[in-house]
Amino acid sequence: MIVGLDFDNTIVSYDALFQQMAIEEKLVPNSIPPTKTAIRDYLRHIGKENFWTELQSRAYGPFLKRAIPFPGVFEFLSHCRKADISIYVVSHKTQFPYQGTQYNLHESALEWMFQQGFMCQEKYGLSEDRVFFEPTATGKCYRIRSLKCDVFLDDLPEFLLSVEFPSSVHRVLFDPHQRTSSFQGLARVGSWREFLQCMLSEWSNRCVTTA
Ligand SMILES: [Mg+2]
Repeated sequence: MIVGLDFDNTIVSYDALFQQMAIEEKLVPNSIPPTKTAIRDYLRHIGKENFWTELQSRAYGPFLKRAIPFPGVFEFLSHCRKADISIYVVSHKTQFPYQGTQYNLHESALEWMFQQGFMCQEKYGLSEDRVFFEPTATGKCYRIRSLKCDVFLDDLPEFLLSVEFPSSVHRVLFDPHQRTSSFQGLARVGSWREFLQCMLSEWSNRCVTTA
């Protein structure tokens, strides 16, 4: 079985990082909820969209080293390694931000994966040649198709439901904050542990039988 994983807000959790950065820079009140959307909505509401843009550039760039992985990611990868399940990371990420300071976002993301210990082939089955950063959503869909993923996990329902997304791939929505209502055709998990449990049961059977 081949499993594809999104990177931003699926492997990396940015919520605490955005809250820390925004409070440190006195852009938001200390009482702001620790979520990325709360920070974004607040800055938009007070007419500081440009601050949000710059904050994102730094969070995905030089400040990424302060971000943490979602709980359960390493256990998931370790299980896949033992079960001989192939893992790829496929991310929609431009090399440089559309606006603001031109940090190299691909470099930052790869450095973070090394720094966090993901790139350990023996333990997690991951290496640099299994990580793809695609500048467009179309490119990401193409990559998922060409890698022949059986399952893909992503936090964006609009991406999973896009017409370009390969129809043969089982789509799973990663929704740790339970933000989205149900979407037809999407399985939904609230954590990596739940994703692993689901894979061990119905999806593994489904993927084995369709392989
Ligand atoms: Mg994402």
